[in-house]
This record gives sequence, C-alpha cells and structure tokens, in this order.
Amino acid sequence: MKRILVTGGAGFIGSHLCQRLLDIGHDVLCVDNFFAGSRDNVAHLLNHPHFEIMRHDVTEPLRVEVEQIYNLACPASPVFYQSDPIKTTKTNVLGALHMLGLARNLGATVLQASTSEIYGDPEVHPQPESYRGLVSTTGLRACYDEGKRCAETLFFDYWRQHSVAIKVVRIFNTYGPRMRSDDGRVVPSFITQALRGEDVTVFGDGSQTRSFCYVDDLVAGLIAMMESPEAFIGPVNMGNPHEVTVRELAETVIRLAGSHSHIVHQPLPDDDPRQRCPDITLARDQLDWQPTVGLEEGLTRTISYFSGR
Ligand code: NAD
Ligand code: UDP
Repeated sequence: MKRILVTGGAGFIGSHLCQRLLDIGHDVLCVDNFFAGSRDNVAHLLNHPHFEIMRHDVTEPLRVEVEQIYNLACPASPVFYQSDPIKTTKTNVLGALHMLGLARNLGATVLQASTSEIYGDPEVHPQPESYRGLVSTTGLRACYDEGKRCAETLFFDYWRQHSVAIKVVRIFNTYGPRMRSDDGRVVPSFITQALRGEDVTVFGDGSQTRSFCYVDDLVAGLIAMMESPEAFIGPVNMGNPHEVTVRELAETVIRLAGSHSHIVHQPLPDDDPRQRCPDITLARDQLDWQPTVGLEEGLTRTISYFSGR
C-alpha cells in the first residue's frame, strides 16, 4: 500500500483515479479547491477507511506525507478555464512548482497531467511526442496551453536540476461518467442536449476532428505510467487514436441516445484546433498500454450515466 496524493481529485478524471487507486489497495489523499469538481464526485468514497479529502488550492504550498503525486488540478473545460484565465495560468505554473517542490522534499514520484493542447493547432497528424506544436501565446486558449507547456518545462528542469522522479503524460480528449452536464466540453454537451431533445450545437461546420478516450482506459494508462521504471519519464501521449469529426460525434450521440434532436451550427470559437489524434506508439511500446473501450461502447455507458441523473 502506498500513500498517494491526487490533486484535482474531485474532478472528472481525478475521481475515477482515486477510486481505482483505492480498489488496488492504496491510501488516497484527494486535494481540490472545488472550482470545477465537486464533493459529489467522490461522495461514494468518503466513508472508505483509506480515503481522505482536503479543500486546498494548489496555487498555495502544501505540506503532506505521500510517496506518489498525481497532479491533475486544473480546469480542463475551455468554458471553465477561460472564465478566469489568469487563475488558470497560476494553477498550472504555481501548482506544478508546489507539487515538484513537495516531491523533491519527500523523494516522491510526481506525475503531471499534461495535454494534447500543448500541440496547439497541429500541422503534424497524428501527433507524436516529438512534434513541438503550433500554439498561440496570446489567444483565448493560451492560459491553458502555455500554462501546461510551462508546467512540462518545470517538470523537466526539476528532473535535470534536482533529480526529482517525474512522469509526464499528454492526455488527449477523455470522456465518461461524472463529467458535468454544464461542463461545456463536447461529449457532455451533446449527450445532455440529445437526452433533453434540444438542438445539438455543432461549432463551425463540424469537420474539425477529435479522438475520444474512455476514462477507464485513461486511468489505467496513468497508473501504468506511474508504476513504470523510473527511467521512463515521458512525455508520453495517452488517448484513443480513433478519430472522428465533431459532426460524426453529434450524429452518433443522437442515434445512441435514441433522440430526435436536430443538429444546429454555431460559430467556431477562436483558435479551435482543426484536427487532433494521438500517435500512441510510445505508450504501446513502453507501457504495453492501449485503449480497449470503443467510442460507441464508451458513449453508451456515458449516456446511461447522464440519463440516470
Ligand atoms: P476537471 O475540470 O473535471 O477536473 C479538474 C479538477 O481540478 C477539478 O476538480 C477542479 O476543481 C480542480 N482544480 C482546478 N483548479 C484547482 C486549484 N487551483 N487547486 C486545486 N484544485 C483545482 O478536468 P478533468 O477532465 O478531470 O482533467 C483533469 C486533468 O487532466 C487536468 O489537469 C486536465 O488539464 C488534464 N487533461 C484532461 C483532458 C480531458 O479530456 N479530460 C485532456 C487533457 C488533459
Ligand atoms: N464543440 C461543439 N459543440 C459544443 C462543444 C464543443 O461543436 O457544444 C466542439 C469544439 O468547438 C471543438 C470540439 O467540439 O472543436 C471539442 O471541444 P471540447 O471543448 O470538448 O474540447 P477541446 O476543444 O479542448 O478539444
């Protein structure tokens, strides 16, 4: 049994990670400021003897005793991270500094939840880890993209300068139960609209692509990365390489939800990446990891979660 800190543990991915770590037999400390996550996401864990939750903002220093740190704290929905962009940059940069400082003091291993957004609006497709990206420093998404890029830089500098044991995972679009219905990200938005019989809002002409990974697959990958040999630090892509257009996603959700909703088009937000698909060769080779849940199966499970609410 290890004592493990999960920052952002009351969020979507964090809550699934906490659950999986407890199932394996670890002791889990979940830290969150509840900006985007909620106690409801971990309500079923509150009575678990090896689970603890602490309200804390990672822009402030934290002193706790742990052996592993998963640093997930950061709003991931464009609607949430753009609502307070200065805070988003602070969360990414100060949060990384504080978790790296903590890991250094404790001799702990720290895993950073980085993102495909560090590739920006990519000209290389699919994206391998060696691609350096095309990112705006001044656009609406920069607080998140540049914040995450700076966090990666800090991770590698703490590794070089202070020999901190680091792991960097670039997560591609991940979805599943416990996303918020008002999250603004495409999967919960489309499912909520389809279940309510409302118009399904495709931004732009819907020809932009994304590749969607079911949360259970991603969580398995994060744990595999944390448990991998210390020499393998990443960055490593994690996501499902099955690429679809946003319009195809809308049609699939409407069909699987048995909905009569219509698709309507709304303006494409600034800097919306045209295409995104992970090259997961490295994760396959180094971690023997690849997704196992197909899009229709994952969407069906997620629709069932939302319809039960
Ligand atoms: P989420 O928004 O559901 O969860 C993030 C959690 O972090 C929330 O509970 C929020 O309250 C918490 N948080 C935000 N700022 C904080 C702060 N300053 N201090 C403490 N807690 C704070 O997002 P998610 O989808 O679960 O994503 C988790 C992590 O994975 C994020 O770092 C995100 O950038 C990364 N990621 C997610 C995706 C995805 O598709 N879901 C893709 C790429 C990267
Ligand atoms: N999107 C959409 N309708 C919505 C929400 C999002 O068409 O109601 C589009 C969005 O413009 C983007 C894609 O879906 O092209 C994925 O958006 P999301 O916010 O989920 O993630 P990200 O853009 O960060 O990959």
